[in-house]
Amino acid sequence: MDTSECIFCKIVAGISECHEIYQDDATLAFMDIHPANEGHCLVIPKEHFEQVFDMPPAAFGTVASTVRKVARAVNEVLRPGGISLVQANGELAGQSVLHVHVHVLPRRAGDDLLINWDRARDDDQRFDRDRIAEIAERLRSRLRGSV
Ligand code: AMP
Ligand code: ZN
Repeated sequence: MDTSECIFCKIVAGISECHEIYQDDATLAFMDIHPANEGHCLVIPKEHFEQVFDMPPAAFGTVASTVRKVARAVNEVLRPGGISLVQANGELAGQSVLHVHVHVLPRRAGDDLLINWDRARDDDQRFDRDRIAEIAERLRSRLRGSV
């Protein structure tokens, strides 16, 4: 695929906007634009890989390390009941963006979140832009200087 057409590569390059919460040399974390649950965020490798099978194991390990950091921050800042980590490979698995990403999904009692949640389901509360920006700021502050 031509990576200049990849939305996540555009975010990495600064061509498309996002609510960034953390980055290091190899990874970037930002709020999901269409959250399944309040506080839903994504962790990606800066380098373009379509699926996990395309990545050297160490590169996926670097992503996992950032996922752990971000999940810990989400847990401490938002205090959900739990956190699900989801990584889809292939359309059948629900992959809609062909650049490896791990979903960090805060879980709350009774949310009944399906693993292939409806990406298009509308819910004013989940998509409140100001609320997403506010949560991003709280997570960014928590992750500042995080090791
Ligand atoms: P998946 O369907 O597992 O490939 O997940 C892709 C995720 O990327 C979905 O949850 C989308 O809401 C999210 N997404 C797509 N475009 C953007 C964007 N420009 N900024 C933030 N999240 C995005
Ligand atoms: Zn990409």
